[in-house]
Amino acid sequence: MVIAPKAALIGRTNVGKSSLFNKMVEELKSLVSEIPGTTRDRFEADCLWRAKVIRIVDTGGLDVNKADEIEKNVIMQTEKAMKAAQVILFVVDLTVGPTVDDYRIAKELLHQKTPVIVVGNKADSAQVRAKADSAEWANWPLMKPLPISAKQGVGVGDLLDMMTEILEKAGTPPVDITEIMPMRVAVLGEPNVGKSTLLNSILGEERFITANVPHTTREPNDAMIEHEGKTYIFVDTAGIRKHAAMMRTGNKLEEAGVERTLEFLKRAQVALFVMDVTRGITAQDRHLAGVLAESGVSTVIVVNKWDLVENKTPTSVNKMEAEVRGWLPQLKYAPVIFTSALTGQRAKKLFPLIDLVFSHRFTRLSDDEAHQFMSQAIVRHKPVKGKGVKSPKVESFTQRGVNPPRFVLEVDLPRKDSLDVSYVRFLENLLREHYEFGGTPIRIRIQAGKKSHTTY
Ligand code: GDP
Repeated sequence: MVIAPKAALIGRTNVGKSSLFNKMVEELKSLVSEIPGTTRDRFEADCLWRAKVIRIVDTGGLDVNKADEIEKNVIMQTEKAMKAAQVILFVVDLTVGPTVDDYRIAKELLHQKTPVIVVGNKADSAQVRAKADSAEWANWPLMKPLPISAKQGVGVGDLLDMMTEILEKAGTPPVDITEIMPMRVAVLGEPNVGKSTLLNSILGEERFITANVPHTTREPNDAMIEHEGKTYIFVDTAGIRKHAAMMRTGNKLEEAGVERTLEFLKRAQVALFVMDVTRGITAQDRHLAGVLAESGVSTVIVVNKWDLVENKTPTSVNKMEAEVRGWLPQLKYAPVIFTSALTGQRAKKLFPLIDLVFSHRFTRLSDDEAHQFMSQAIVRHKPVKGKGVKSPKVESFTQRGVNPPRFVLEVDLPRKDSLDVSYVRFLENLLREHYEFGGTPIRIRIQAGKKSHTTY
């Protein structure tokens, strides 16, 4: 198991270290129950940023009041941080300026080699933010503080970008999320397309993990394997046939089938959607594509039994891919791979594809990036009104979450249906053009917003 590089929080009490700690680790915390082998306590947890992981260590504050004890405590705290981490986050309170204790800590930090970022917390307003540029900070021994608000989450993305850059330069880059988190994979498709054969082929030589892995919920029919240092859980492998059969009721996917499939997909982040090249794409496949898009899982389209295609030419793959895409517009974002479960052709290539579509679930735009993106989007295409008379005006565009990536578009209209849905599609396509979202669905919610100060 790979261990993420560490960042240590130090600083006086009440500067907001715990708030910053909580803010940084909250996103992964909701997924954390799935991460095996990580020790987690009040003072140490993993932080997820742009599909990469950094371990955050809170060293505790300076709680003493007697001058000589402060001195000792400062030395102890910084030494602990230096030993524990590859980068130090020295948190100061921008509302009160550098204090005597801040200077003490700064002096201590000057004597050591671990890179330090000075974080100016409590920058909840423009006035406080501006203080970071004042003379009192310009003249102090370390860098001027990077203004953030742990409470509002503002600036934390910039801080994480800075940490990432420093850690990369130091040769201890943040680790990829795929290296510390098991990826849950569901295999779906019509009966007889080769799901079981494919699974046998890819699991055949792998090392199964049979021991209990902490913080990982696993059902009896899940197969957990390790492949090139990464952990994969193929969910409900014994149910693969049963599941496919269950979905075929008459010739259409019945409501109950849809619900059960969605329920099953909740256990996975990635779906391998298998079909049989000799049979072509069926109505059932097209229904399933819709369910997959709705479910929020990332998808890889696996066109199987490629060995049975005769007279293949170098362009066969491209032609077939265009055909598949034409039939499955709901999964336009999913990569397509052509396999033969029987001969094993390209079966192993599924692993890097799973990694890719999994990590794209964690692609993250900072507030600034999302804002810039929206400004450019509007230049290309003004928001289009749907119902109503008033032209919609965009108030804000922000990413609210990952796994899968979720955005909120605030418009200044009382009714959300006043923005034409084509505009959401336009934004989604543009996001895909500019950022790494291949394989993952993107959610964009329209919200009627109050007038904000943002101008586009
Ligand atoms: P499932 O119902 O989707 O799990 O399908 P199976 O894995 O049971 O496969 C159905 C049939 O297709 C079996 O006879 C397999 O041997 C055959 N099959 C599966 N994959 C391939 C393939 O890539 N090429 C060929 N030629 N046959 C395959």
